[in-house]
This record gives sequence, C-alpha cells and structure tokens, in this order.
Amino acid sequence: MLPIVALVGRPNVGKSTLFNRLLRKARAITHDLPGVTRDRIYGECRMGDVRFDLVDTGGMVLESEATPELSKDFEDEIFEQAQEAIEEANAIIFVVDGKEGLTPLDQQAAEYVRRSGKPVFMLVNKVDGSEFAPQMTGEFHELGIEFMPVSAAHGYNLHEVRHRVKQFVIDLNIPEDEDDGIEKGLRLTMLGRPNAGKSSIINAVIGKDRLIVSDVAGTTRDSIDVTFEKRDKRYTFVDTAGVRRRANIQDHLEKISVIRALKNSRRSDVTILTIDITLGVGRQDKRLIEFLAKEKTPFIVVVNKADLVPRNETNRALEAFRNELRIIPHVPIVMTSAQKGVGIGKLLPIAEAMRKECQIRIGTGILNRSLQAVLERQQPPVVKRRRPKFFYVTQADEEIPTFVFFCNDHAIVKTSYVRYLENQFRKMLGIKTAPVNIVFRSSH
Ligand code: GDP
Ligand code: GDP
Repeated sequence: MLPIVALVGRPNVGKSTLFNRLLRKARAITHDLPGVTRDRIYGECRMGDVRFDLVDTGGMVLESEATPELSKDFEDEIFEQAQEAIEEANAIIFVVDGKEGLTPLDQQAAEYVRRSGKPVFMLVNKVDGSEFAPQMTGEFHELGIEFMPVSAAHGYNLHEVRHRVKQFVIDLNIPEDEDDGIEKGLRLTMLGRPNAGKSSIINAVIGKDRLIVSDVAGTTRDSIDVTFEKRDKRYTFVDTAGVRRRANIQDHLEKISVIRALKNSRRSDVTILTIDITLGVGRQDKRLIEFLAKEKTPFIVVVNKADLVPRNETNRALEAFRNELRIIPHVPIVMTSAQKGVGIGKLLPIAEAMRKECQIRIGTGILNRSLQAVLERQQPPVVKRRRPKFFYVTQADEEIPTFVFFCNDHAIVKTSYVRYLENQFRKMLGIKTAPVNIVFRSSH
C-alpha cells in the first residue's frame, strides 16, 4: 500500500484543481457528470521515485452549499467527510483560499486536522502571482501550520509546491511495499453493471486463497483494491467499488462506470467486463465495449450466471455475444457461473496469457520477413490509381503490441487492408487475445 495523502479543506478552495495539478492529469471528464465530483477520488501520484495515493475530498457537499439555511448540516457534513478522509490518511494537505482569506470554517477544520496528530502541510491557494503572496497569506500564520502560497489554476509556485510535497511524503518515512519474494501477479479491473456478479466472481476467484488486503476499517472509502495470493502469485482486483458497500453506490455506479473504466483500466493489466447472461449486452455495456476497444484495453468478457440458462441454449447465447463483439474478435468470452464455480478457474490463466502477449517484443528481422510474406500473399489494393508501398515495419515501445508500418502514403491504405495486416500479424506472431495497434507513418 502506498502512503495516503488527503487534500482537506472547505469546498471551493481549489482542492480538485490542486489534485489534478499534482497528478498532472486533466479530469475534465468528471465535470460533465453531475454527482461524480461528490465522490472521494483517489489518484496515484508519482514524483520521481516517490509514490503516494492522493485523495481528493472536493465538492462533496454541493447540495447543501446551494441551501445556506442548512448551513449547520452543511458544516457537519464537511466535517464528517473531512474526518473520514483524515482518518484513513497518513498525512494531510490542508487547503485554504487566499482570496477569501481565513474563515471560521477554516479555523475549525484546522483544529480537526491538528487533533488528528497527523503530519499536515498547508497550501494557501488562489494566490495567482508572487506579488500577492505576502498580503494574501499573512493572516494564515495564526493557524500555526507550515504553509506555501500556490495558484493551482494559474501555476504560480506549483513547481516548488510539488517539490515540497514530495519531501513531505519522503519525511513520512513509510516503507514501500516490502519485496517479500512473492511474484507480482496481475492487476485486474472489474467492470460491469450492478448485479452482473462482479463481487461474486471476485469471491469465487479468491476462494480459499489468502486475502491480503481488505477494506480499510472504519471508513466509508467506497472503492478498494483487493489483493490475494494464488499459486504463489499476488493478484490485485483494482478499485472494486461495491464489493462490500454495494447498496449505497449502485446509483452512481451507473454514472461513473465509464470514468471508472478510464481510470482503473489504465491502472491495471487486464480488465474484466462482466455481463449477466439473462440480460445480454445492455446500452451501458455497449458503451464500455466501444470504449475499451477504442482505447485498445486488454480485456475479457465474462458472461456470468450461465446456470440460469438451460445447457442447450448456452451456445446460442455465446453466439449472440460473439456477434456483439465482432469488431474485436480477439477478445475472449468466458462463460461462468460464479454461484456454481463454473468457468471461474479459466479467468486468471486467460488474463495471464493476455498480459504475456502484451509484453511480447519482436525483432525487426522477424517483423520485416513477416511483412514480406504478408505482402506477397495479398498486395494492398490500388486506391486512386496508386498502390500503397510498404517499406518496413518496427515495433514501438508501448504497453500493448504496437507495429509501425512505414509506407509511401498511409492515406491510401484501405481499412480492409489494415484489418488484413492486423490479422496476419496476429497469426504469425501468435498474438491471440491482446489488443494490437497498427500505426502508419508516411515516408518517401
Ligand atoms: P474544491 O471544491 O476545493 O475542490 O475546489 P475546486 O478545485 O473545484 O475550485 C473551486 C473554484 O476555484 C473553481 O472555480 C476553480 O476554477 C477556482 N480555483 C481553483 N484554484 C484557483 C486558483 O489558483 N486561482 C483562482 N483564481 N481560482 C482558482
Ligand atoms: P455485482 O453488483 O456485479 O458485484 O453483483 P453480485 O456479485 O453482488 O451479484 C448480484 C446478484 O447475482 C447476487 O444476488 C448474486 O448472488 C447473484 N449471482 C452472482 N453470480 C451468479 C451466478 O453465477 N448465478 C446466479 N444464479 N446468480 C448469481
């Protein structure tokens, strides 16, 4: 587990903006979806060789904010949320608003933070230039917390702040995951509609094997990583929202599943999309499949609850799913029954094989001999009276197999020929289930 650093402060001081700046990520996608910014959001921060989880508690009280008469509840809510974030954090970055100046709410929050006894560092945000710093920060001295001025929105002092935050985390002196000689297995993300059976599958996969990390006691952290050991390897289900607190989050699971897909699929090796066989591929599933295909995410489709369909109909069901996935025929479809334990044993081996394929590295010699063979078998069709000429191909250093074809003019390569190239290369190089990226570069 990485050290956890929580961004704490009253709403609108700029916590989310800081979160994005510290993670160097644009999280614009969250803004389109009401309700989403009310979640606590976790992000892995890397600063050189220092890594930690940053927790953004931002915007959790939007509704109360709109109704000033509820300000007491509003304050209570803030403190409740802040307190939870503080409880599970190893350290705190306390954020205040230099523009608004010190407010009673800041004072109370600071008191809370202090009482936690955890290391705290304060950022006076919205100081949009050095010329404002002395005047805007002066009154915050009285809180007695070390601070720096910053402008999350405009970047003032951000570099120094990153540097200071890095040192702050180093000083926490939290040992990294100790290397206990256990082979690091896969990181897996579970996606799918509520009730598709994700938790049941996770439980079935883990079975009697050793569960290493479970929920953080006493917090309402609604997403957790579940790590377990199987056959001397350590696997992690990434951010398995709802494994324990399902009921509370089902509503917004719908809304944020695409975001979750974005965030977690990138953090993991293989994504597993679970679909309830009795419901088929729904609208949300379609969106996810399109997204995963477009992003070239390594993924498996699990068709769960097979026990609810008569045996002689399962093949027909499988055909229907195959048809849904016809644009990405390499994606494995696994029929399971989490309840009866059927098909569950296949998941990790399929995922392992997929990752292995992702890590494949092929020499330029083999690639170019393959290219010659492929071209001889079927020439690229003439487009606008010109025939594409392929010069050579190399593999780019990417997380999924990516082949860069150098040709005279990539604009005249037909989509059908791109598919042909992909299929042929898959066959020759033995890439069965991983996504493959075919890229063209025009050169003369
Ligand atoms: P949160 O509720 O604490 O997460 O705050 P947000 O990050 O959502 O920011 C609240 C508002 O303050 C937004 O309108 C931001 O654009 C604005 N803001 C954030 N950082 C700065 C800053 O450094 N300078 C200025 N002028 N505005 C900022
Ligand atoms: P999640 O919301 O995707 O995590 O789904 P759950 O794992 O909580 O499962 C939702 C419901 O479906 C529960 O009542 C499970 O018992 C049931 N369920 C899960 N897997 C199966 C299965 O393979 N067969 C049947 N018949 N029911 C299942």
